Amino acid sequence: MSELNAESTAFRAALDVVRSVEPRIADAITKELHDQRESLKLIASENYASPAVLLAMGNWLSDKYAEGTIGRRFYAGCQNVDTVEAVAVEHAKALFDAPYAYVQPHSGIDANLVAYWAILADRVEVPHLQKFEKRQVNDLSEAEWAELRAAFGNQRMLGMSLDAGGHLTHGFRPNISGKMFDQRSYGVDPATGQIDYKALRDTAKEFQPLIIVGGYSAYPRKVNFATMREIADEVGATFMVDMAHFAGLVAGKVFTGDYNPIPHAHIVTTTTHKSLRGPRGGAVFAQPELASQVDRGCPMVLGGPLSHVMAAKAIAFAEARDPSFQTYAQNIVDNSQALAEGLRRRGVQLVSGGTDNHLVLIDVHPFGITGRQAEAALLDSEIVTNRNAIPQDPNGAWYTSGIRVGTPALTSRGLGTAEMDQIAELIHTVLSNTSPAEGSKAKYVLDPALADRVSKQATELLAPFPLYPSVTI
Ligand code: PLP
Repeated sequence: MSELNAESTAFRAALDVVRSVEPRIADAITKELHDQRESLKLIASENYASPAVLLAMGNWLSDKYAEGTIGRRFYAGCQNVDTVEAVAVEHAKALFDAPYAYVQPHSGIDANLVAYWAILADRVEVPHLQKFEKRQVNDLSEAEWAELRAAFGNQRMLGMSLDAGGHLTHGFRPNISGKMFDQRSYGVDPATGQIDYKALRDTAKEFQPLIIVGGYSAYPRKVNFATMREIADEVGATFMVDMAHFAGLVAGKVFTGDYNPIPHAHIVTTTTHKSLRGPRGGAVFAQPELASQVDRGCPMVLGGPLSHVMAAKAIAFAEARDPSFQTYAQNIVDNSQALAEGLRRRGVQLVSGGTDNHLVLIDVHPFGITGRQAEAALLDSEIVTNRNAIPQDPNGAWYTSGIRVGTPALTSRGLGTAEMDQIAELIHTVLSNTSPAEGSKAKYVLDPALADRVSKQATELLAPFPLYPSVTI
């Protein structure tokens, strides 16, 4: 038998150790790998991190508390975490050409909360804020606290509407951002499905927000951040961009100039696990004048950083600095455009008519089904997508009328534009053969034999592109 390579040895040994304590967990981890290998993963927010990223997370860094910032911790013995965080910051700044980076947020939501509090602390004028900032919190009287809460909580935020592709953390009621801010939305022009910058400017002028949020979860076009910054300046707003979805396209230099948020926004947040292909986590980039406020992320809204995840972020940022990542990022967009074109040629309706980025938003309304029915029917056929609202969605945010498909994960596997056309064919086959079960927005009818046939075709399509070929498990 041939010798195992280092990656296979490492994962196998780790699973053996886990199995000795709780076999069901080892089995679930192994099954997840096999499930991911077999399915056509088109979830726009997911990817496959490298073995080095995954392995950097399973170690003793996880055991260390390190609240605070590099060299200024609330705990003793943080010298190794300091090294890890400093290396991650160094790579992050170089990768995005950013003057400042904060790599502690545990997720995208945390990164956004850090950014919101940093902006509030920077912008809100409360006479006693000085004391608060100096952490003499016990000096504040009840009345002063009440004044502080009122001042912080009554600020205005302008973000992209949920049905146009915005994220829950951009001011929507179910999220704390919708409770702490007075929120107004900008959307897309119904005729083009693209951001209407004039309408955005008009809303900003009328609403006078403290914060304008750019960025999205389900908008298939590039965004002109230079124009958005101009609008923010006109109304005196702080301009924040949440690049969680397209950070890989910024890192890979597909989005440059007006479309790169880093030089235009005052503050930029991201996740590290989507198109950036790192571990699950978040990060914040800021102009130098906001840096000291962002550094207060812990204890403002974060506890101890996940040091093992910061290590994995350092690996992912280092990987993305390799020139091959620019090819990868361009391939993501080429694939997304090929998928959009393949769908369009087969008569599938796309929000905005196409894509400039890693995702395509399919309007399933013409098939007479909801997004929820489409999502489930595709899943029966091993095509993993997610339902998503479309602009002015008649089915609301739960059932929806859209399906969001994205190409970062399949591009990581090595699939190219030819395979995207075949995937468009599979998606079209499933959607055009699915119908609603009478009176239901959730139940549907799809011939199981057809789902089975598509599922086999999906497996055949994936066969030449093994996932984690270096890991024989
Ligand atoms: N921001 C955007 C634009 C997102 O799309 C997401 C997640 O989908 C988040 C933030 C939240 O990221 P997380 O799930 O890591 O908290």
